[in-house]
Amino acid sequence: MQFDLQAFLENARVPYKAHFLTSLPQADFTGFRLAAPAECDFSATPTADGAALLLCVKAQVEAECARCLEPLQRNYDFQREYLVRPQDVEDPDFELPCSKKGCLDLEELVYQELIFEVPTVLLCSPDCQGLCPVCGKKKAAGCTCRPADSAAPADARLSILKQLLS
Ligand SMILES: [Zn+2]
Ligand SMILES: [Zn+2]
Repeated sequence: MQFDLQAFLENARVPYKAHFLTSLPQADFTGFRLAAPAECDFSATPTADGAALLLCVKAQVEAECARCLEPLQRNYDFQREYLVRPQDVEDPDFELPCSKKGCLDLEELVYQELIFEVPTVLLCSPDCQGLCPVCGKKKAAGCTCRPADSAAPADARLSILKQLLS
């Protein structure tokens, strides 16, 4: 979905509003995907020296816990505001995804903001203990491995140290 930002900056006297859904099928998210199309509201309002843009995004994200690989879902609901002046559109460093003709790609903008909003490491819970290094089961599910199994090498080093000290 394209928004003619340049034309809006030149002529607009009244606000512009758009509501759209996007599933971003071409998007490459690192570590997560959209469970359903993201629900977006975009508005542009003329200001004294340009325009105020507002983007609201509601998205449901699916991923696997980075520690235990359990599937998880998270809801994101955020908004971003941008103040744009006419000279920004021609600026090569302009932060918004804008074509040479001054058209703003709203889906690309949603994608950029989602990447920014969703952490690259998602956990099923902040204190997820991950998987047992011995049996590969979830530690929280209570594997039967004794702590001694994995602690053995440390104990061996400790006993050498004790010998050296005595
Ligand atoms: Zn987990
Ligand atoms: Zn285990």
